[in-house]
Amino acid sequence: MINYDVLRSSFHALHGRRPRLFRAPGRVNLIGEHTDYNDGWVLPMAIRFDTVVAGAAREDRRVRVRSLNLDEDAEFDLDTPGPPRRGIWLDYVEGVARALESRGVRLRGADLLIQSDVPVGAGLSSSAALEISVGLALVSLAGMEIDPVSLALAGQQAEHEYVGTRSGIMDQFIATLGRADHALLIDCRSLEATHIPLDTSEVAVVICDTQVKHELASSEYNTRRAECERGVDILREVMPETRALRDVSVANFERFGPLLPEPIRQRCRHVVTENQRTLAAAEALRNGDLEATGKLMGLSHRSLRDDYEVSSPELDLLVDIAGMARGVLGARMTGGGFGGSTVNLVGRDCLDEFHETISGEYFRATGIQPAIYVSEAAGGAEEMR
Ligand code: ADP
Ligand code: MG
Repeated sequence: MINYDVLRSSFHALHGRRPRLFRAPGRVNLIGEHTDYNDGWVLPMAIRFDTVVAGAAREDRRVRVRSLNLDEDAEFDLDTPGPPRRGIWLDYVEGVARALESRGVRLRGADLLIQSDVPVGAGLSSSAALEISVGLALVSLAGMEIDPVSLALAGQQAEHEYVGTRSGIMDQFIATLGRADHALLIDCRSLEATHIPLDTSEVAVVICDTQVKHELASSEYNTRRAECERGVDILREVMPETRALRDVSVANFERFGPLLPEPIRQRCRHVVTENQRTLAAAEALRNGDLEATGKLMGLSHRSLRDDYEVSSPELDLLVDIAGMARGVLGARMTGGGFGGSTVNLVGRDCLDEFHETISGEYFRATGIQPAIYVSEAAGGAEEMR
């Protein structure tokens, strides 16, 4: 937990002014993996971990920023763009500032102090939490307002242009639009976002971090994107109206899938069925049917493991252990894969036992202590008053 009073007084000690505080959450994706760049659906929720920015405007156009997590200072001038893709954390900060200005938001310089308790690189999107909290701070300190969708798009633009990751819109959307006790069904084509009630009073959402990241992630990500595009090209010959895999129903895939060579068929099958599972899971959540949601999560994992081939031995292990624990309604890898975390639905009366089983068995097999977090669905970015 971040101590806001300490953050305020640290800012005051550094800059001699009282800051305003802004926060944006990390997220976990319940279901809908590798569907976003196929124009499909995703179903994330915001988590109780935040990136918090304490900030005050300056008279000039300099942005001076300090990350307490990294114990590092950086700065840039809004009038002299620094080079993109330096591979440093300032890419996210400067990237969102530039994206906002390119969208017509005239910013002021600012002093910013950042602190986050979102685990970094665990697949919980500390990067979007950083972009969105900084973006909201910069806009607000310039005396302006921004709607959540524009702020999310500016965050994504920062990631594309400054960081150099061609990410979908999910992370930034849930960081701005998250709502307490709700998941968010996002249509990644129309950008329509629907809040779905998620009651975690009896069943908890539990995140288990493998603490392992494989280097494969970004090259395989690009390969998967290309495989999906190839699949669309071939399917378009028989279904000319197909723009993305989102347009292919399960029934049509059963009919035309055999036209695709392997492994493209497998990859496309994952995306087509995952879209269907995501819509079904949203419907199940709406009906308060967490059992059905959990089953769909289990199917999602198998599809990611066998068809899309983006899981890892550690992720599979965590899912297998969860499958043997009491009170678990569903478990799957979450995020891009090749490491990161799993997401689990666990009956609250079994939480202690789940915790013990997971850490005991995972440690026995790998020698690594997993990190385990329970989170309710949290709200999106806001100024804290
Ligand atoms: P994820 O978003 O899954 O956590 P990424 O690799 O996309 O992983 O983003 C992590 C990067 O974001 C870090 O390496 C760092 O550059 C930046 N970052 C995230 N949080 C902070 C922070 N509090 N202070 C500075 N940089 C941060
Ligand atoms: Mg990220």
